[in-house]
Amino acid sequence: MEGKKEYGGHVVVLPYPSQGHINPLLQFAKRLASKGVKATIATTHYTVNFICTPNVCVEPISDGFDKGGFAQAQTEDVFLNSFRTNGSRTLSELIKKYQSTSSPINCVVYDSFLPWALDVAREHGIYGAAFFTNSAAVCAIFCRIHYGLLALPVKKEGMPLLLPGLPPLNSPDLPSFIKTPESHPAYLAMKLSQFSNLEKADWVFDNTFEVLEGEVVKATSELWPAKLIGPMVPSAYLDGRIKDDRGYGASLWKPLGDECIKWLETKPCQSVVYISFGSMVSLSLKQVEEIALGLKDSNLYFLWVVKESERAKLPDGFIESTKEKGLIVTWCNQLEMLAHKAIGCFATHCGWNSTLEGLSLGVPMVGVPQWADQLTDAKFIEGIWGVGVRAKEDGEGIVRREELVFCLKEVMVEGERSKEIRRNAGKWKELAKEAVSEGGSSDKSINEFVEHLKGTDK
Ligand code: UDP
Repeated sequence: MEGKKEYGGHVVVLPYPSQGHINPLLQFAKRLASKGVKATIATTHYTVNFICTPNVCVEPISDGFDKGGFAQAQTEDVFLNSFRTNGSRTLSELIKKYQSTSSPINCVVYDSFLPWALDVAREHGIYGAAFFTNSAAVCAIFCRIHYGLLALPVKKEGMPLLLPGLPPLNSPDLPSFIKTPESHPAYLAMKLSQFSNLEKADWVFDNTFEVLEGEVVKATSELWPAKLIGPMVPSAYLDGRIKDDRGYGASLWKPLGDECIKWLETKPCQSVVYISFGSMVSLSLKQVEEIALGLKDSNLYFLWVVKESERAKLPDGFIESTKEKGLIVTWCNQLEMLAHKAIGCFATHCGWNSTLEGLSLGVPMVGVPQWADQLTDAKFIEGIWGVGVRAKEDGEGIVRREELVFCLKEVMVEGERSKEIRRNAGKWKELAKEAVSEGGSSDKSINEFVEHLKGTDK
């Protein structure tokens, strides 16, 4: 935009209020702050108290459900509509509040799930930058659907989907929303709305990096001109300076901290499976049972995050009978676990943050994807980056215990495949670190943005 470069220094960063969105956007805010830009996270009343990090201010806005957030809304649709209305109003008030201070807001970096924030930025005549939290591969698919280049439902039963810059994608690799659009219409609409006003954005960012997904970004650049700024994993974890920084600085659940670390300290190097399904997945009773029995049958040590809401699904007596081998917690600081030398494998639902964390910390993975984009991420973990294996479902969509044992052993027990996976994991860890280190491809993209904001690029 023209005529707006008088002041360069206060960015308000607006995440969608879930753990998997707050983490990368908060990390981006921290990066900006480390480069001399004032950064403020604007998040919902319900999530604001869970964020605590130095150098980044936190301000509340409203989604209309100030006491309970998403859980208080009856449906996805109700929540998203309410957030649009109340979020637009309160974001606008926040921008106004700072207008007459010494640090007026001159840019909104908004989660691409919240495209209305760009309209608010435009109303105030300030910059707007979209931040995509999914892989570039997934963004490229949804982008093509938005522009009518790919029709819904995308069902590829015998024939793979072929898209520029992407490997052939078979049915199990496709995001669930596009195969069964009727399953989550509100989420599908939200994924497509990311592109609705994108041509008006001053910048488009994606949490990925050049050597990881540059090819697909290049092939999609006319539709989706993304700058790659990831992985948004706290730098201390990439540099091995973990004691300087314990994580993202946001946790919507109370992590069981030292108990996990103390337990890990008693285990041999690379002997433990860390297993987590992220913040949103709800497994079927049968799936929980198969995972539990698979972990038991594998006879490996395991640290399993079972959220409070899922705990009743554990088989009777399971915790007691695996006391010697396993630790089950309701939430933990995942980064701290992945960085621990006792962890030998990450059994993951393949959420994009978890995928990037496993990749950036060099931990071999077993993908057990459940829905949404996780299926596509799993394809890349196994088939493209070679940093893990993907557990296959049976005809009823369940990963059986034997399959889980097989996959865990493929990764954990020394053999040709596990060696290859470990080699690849080590390589990607270095490449991820390189991308965000000074002079790396992602670091350069962030610097260009910062220089523009500060008006020092001219
Ligand atoms: N996470 C965590 N503790 C846990 C489980 C997950 O801190 O016990 C974090 C994890 O590090 C990641 C985020 O929660 O940054 C989950 O994001 P992801 O995209 O992997 O999955 P989602 O929760 O969005 O499905």
